[in-house]
Amino acid sequence: MDNCLFCKIIAGEIPSAKVYEDDKLLAFKDINPQAPVHILIIPKEHFDSVNALDETSAPIVGDIMLLAKRLADEFHLEAGYRLITNIGENGGQTVKHLHFHLIGGVKLAEKMC
Ligand code: AMP
Ligand code: ZN
Repeated sequence: MDNCLFCKIIAGEIPSAKVYEDDKLLAFKDINPQAPVHILIIPKEHFDSVNALDETSAPIVGDIMLLAKRLADEFHLEAGYRLITNIGENGGQTVKHLHFHLIGGVKLAEKMC
């Protein structure tokens, strides 16, 4: 999609620190990490957010969860981690391309908001 930062990263027009790629998904390090491990997992197909998913497209979230589990193992997050997707303005979403934050490597705050 034109003017989407993450679509440009997928297209290779903007560099990223990739940690995983296949035909459907891309994972790369967040440029402004909030924890020792902070990876973004995105579908290559553009969806604005969870709100843009339907019954046909929603299974991509299952693929993202399975990749998150694999990456958590690869990045030694046996002690736990958090998966977050922000939606819309009040949800704090700044990039309007569906993404999940995989955050860990430290004891995370109990309070989520
Ligand atoms: P959100 O606020 O949930 O929309 O998350 C967007 C995330 O994208 C933020 O954590 C940013 O630090 C991250 N981000 C923005 N630009 C880049 C970039 N060029 N490469 C990697 N991560 C980025
Ligand atoms: Zn996009």
